[in-house]
Amino acid sequence: MVLVGIDVGGTQIKAGLVTRDGRLISHIIENTKTKLGYKAVLEQMNEIILALAKENLVDVKDISAVGIGVPGTTSPDGVVYFANNLGWENKALVNDFGKLCQLPVFIENDASMAAMGELMVGSLKGVKNGILITLGTGLGSGILLDGKIFSGSHGIGRQAGHMKVGENFYECTCGANGCLETFASATALVKYYKHIKNKQQATKDIQVNTAEITAKEIMKLARLGDAIAEKSVERLIHYLGIGIANLINILDPEIISLGGGLAKAGDQLMIPLRESVYNQLYDKKRFFTRLSIAKLENDAGMIGSAMFACENNNK
Ligand SMILES: [Zn+2]
Repeated sequence: MVLVGIDVGGTQIKAGLVTRDGRLISHIIENTKTKLGYKAVLEQMNEIILALAKENLVDVKDISAVGIGVPGTTSPDGVVYFANNLGWENKALVNDFGKLCQLPVFIENDASMAAMGELMVGSLKGVKNGILITLGTGLGSGILLDGKIFSGSHGIGRQAGHMKVGENFYECTCGANGCLETFASATALVKYYKHIKNKQQATKDIQVNTAEITAKEIMKLARLGDAIAEKSVERLIHYLGIGIANLINILDPEIISLGGGLAKAGDQLMIPLRESVYNQLYDKKRFFTRLSIAKLENDAGMIGSAMFACENNNK
């Protein structure tokens, strides 16, 4: 028996066949047919499952369950409350997709699914209380409490990206001002860099085309000593430190693991981040929480979704 784990984003669908012990056997990545609407995306996911089965000579009947990570809020009974990047609101995904693929379906928030993947076979393995923070377009967070995914009483919790940490020069996609992800994400880094670049000239000016600049390039410029890039990265780390210290002050997890593209910066991010977190801690003498880098990278969502489905299907 195998499982299917699907990570459905507004841009891409990643779907994989996963063993019960969390090994990704094979996967398919396609651009999501977001603009064609909800039903088209469901049909697309079903076709991907059929293609995965065919490619790997697996009978669809031998797939024990499907897990889907959704970029938004989900109810405990399988409804997607809201996923803005997909344009979905109040969609009975478990029911609708279950009818289509004829398999048991389980859904959760995408960052929670990635945390589940890290818990089973990655950086959170063996951890009871841990948090995965993904630094990408936004800031996603998956929270594990007592070895289980925590999503709140109604499925609308665990949105660390929308904790308020200050006032910012632009609004968050959720409509509020001051959300952590507007300070600490790839998008935030690019926006702030451009904001400052437009305002003043760098002292050591390195010619760059700011219209197309990426977070990765800004990280590199900071390493090369570009003043504005350095300032932008410092600001990101300052606010990320506030966010993480808030999480530690409230939840006291064993570990906080960082994933997503920005985490690839390694020590450039982690060393100053540790100091920034320390400065905001309530009990500085007891900085027990380990800060680490996630292991599964882009596979975390697929593996975690499959593992989540496996665990819930066996209940
Ligand atoms: Zn927000």
